[in-house]
Amino acid sequence: MKVISITPRGYCKGVIKAISAVKNAIKNPEIKKPIYVLGYIVHNKFVVNDLKDSGVITLDDTKTSRIDLIDEILDGTVVLSAHGTDPSVKEKLKEKNIPYIDATCEDVEKTFDLIKNYDKLGYFIIYIGKHNHPEANAAVSLSKNIVLVETIDDIPNNIKDPVFVTNQTTFSFIEIEHIIDEIISIYPNTLISEEICSATSQRQSAIIKYNKKVDLCYIVGDPRSNNSKNLAIISRNITNTKTFLIESVSDIDINDLIDISTVSVSSGASTPTYLTNEVIEFLKNYN
Ligand code: SF4
Repeated sequence: MKVISITPRGYCKGVIKAISAVKNAIKNPEIKKPIYVLGYIVHNKFVVNDLKDSGVITLDDTKTSRIDLIDEILDGTVVLSAHGTDPSVKEKLKEKNIPYIDATCEDVEKTFDLIKNYDKLGYFIIYIGKHNHPEANAAVSLSKNIVLVETIDDIPNNIKDPVFVTNQTTFSFIEIEHIIDEIISIYPNTLISEEICSATSQRQSAIIKYNKKVDLCYIVGDPRSNNSKNLAIISRNITNTKTFLIESVSDIDINDLIDISTVSVSSGASTPTYLTNEVIEFLKNYN
């Protein structure tokens, strides 16, 4: 069986920065312990479990907001995740005198700055992103004149000009085109700043480039990782390749490998390298 290891794949600069921020905080004696993270530091449970083994407490409950999760913290230091954070969360930490380290990715920060700037200029903002994703939640907290649009059905038709459009950094470049076209058809004078980060677009483009004459594709990533899910969707829908999103090598069902002559492997930006390498090695050695 031929195995194609798609590149680029795996960790991006923002994920490396966020994980390093937590690891440095653990090692630094001047940083108050314990170390807390609100939500997953990056969307991968193996990363979160590794950090837990080093004493890091991840407060994660999809039914409780990050601002309410702070009530569980009495002491220590909080690291804020790569996805960005609602300013009211930072305010509450300051009020409670709990120090925090902001590990927001600079590409996410850039979209937040755009929202704040165009908000000040009086624009109504359409933010293209996923409902209930921490990056989108933080983005929409930055303005009162903003709407979150995940599909064309979410686009309101009664916004007053001027309109500014930006997006979640890990959105699919295929899906966004369609949504932006629809927005322009309703609001022809819209100002658009498409902000899919380069790590996301390079990983998405690589799937299209390498998934030619491939019988099966594995995307290694956490089901909560938006960029991993998008890689799987692009593989399935754009390259018409049978695709599985798996968390680790133990998710491979060998029945899926029957009659497969070429398999490709990629991984999301929050997937540790060792998990992808284990999948590649397993497939290379599979007889
Ligand atoms: S996927 Fe892009 S925006 Fe998200 S952490 Fe990585 S580089 Fe930053």
